[in-house]
Amino acid sequence: MSQQVVVKKTPEFSESPDIFREVFERLAAHFGPLHWWPAETPFEVLVGAVLTQNTAWTNVEKAIANLKQAGALGPAELRGFARAQLEELIRPAGFFRQKAERLQLALEHLFEYHRGSLERLLAQPLETARRELLSLKGIGPETADSILLYAGSHPSFVVDAYTRRLFERLGVLSGAESYEAIRSRFMTRLPHDSDLFNEYHALIVEQCKTLCRKRAPRCRPCPLLEVCPFGQQSLAEAHSP
Ligand code: SF4
Repeated sequence: MSQQVVVKKTPEFSESPDIFREVFERLAAHFGPLHWWPAETPFEVLVGAVLTQNTAWTNVEKAIANLKQAGALGPAELRGFARAQLEELIRPAGFFRQKAERLQLALEHLFEYHRGSLERLLAQPLETARRELLSLKGIGPETADSILLYAGSHPSFVVDAYTRRLFERLGVLSGAESYEAIRSRFMTRLPHDSDLFNEYHALIVEQCKTLCRKRAPRCRPCPLLEVCPFGQQSLAEAHSP
């Protein structure tokens, strides 16, 4: 049975205004509501979260399409595939041997402890489920938090390279913080709302793909320019004689 994993409502803040709220509101006003993660089932989220490690989502889409076509996108179905077959199917996502091993280990874990059900693992309290995911080979905090948020609707903030780049340019992060320290900054400053965290991450991704690009950020049309020291300085330097 397929279940669309989408944002269900427009999140609202209950805390006093600060930079985290301001950034969200400016991005939400600029981009409008976004629907992310593009998956039909929680298990597909897990597969996508592993496949997207160190690669662009466009490559993941090709691998997911192969898995779908082969009828391998459910725990029981995927279990019937040999390692070599799985590697071939996910080859477009890169690092396919490593990722096939990670997927099969996660799958075996689900069958050993949760009757093959990711939903059962995710039905546990957030920190219990997070610890369990982090104990799996190749599941780091970003992958674990993506699974918790997008497959389990747990309010677990996802930190990725886009989050770091954007908030460093905004002067909120120094660049030296650990993953857990950054996640904790967001989690202590924002209401614990999975819809909010879902939408916030989607907005950060969109912002960094279209405006706050790694090279040549497009600061002039950026909705964050008024609160961004990096952007203001870049434009001032561009206009200085
Ligand atoms: S003003 Fe420029 S550097 Fe700042 S967030 Fe926007 S695009 Fe990025």
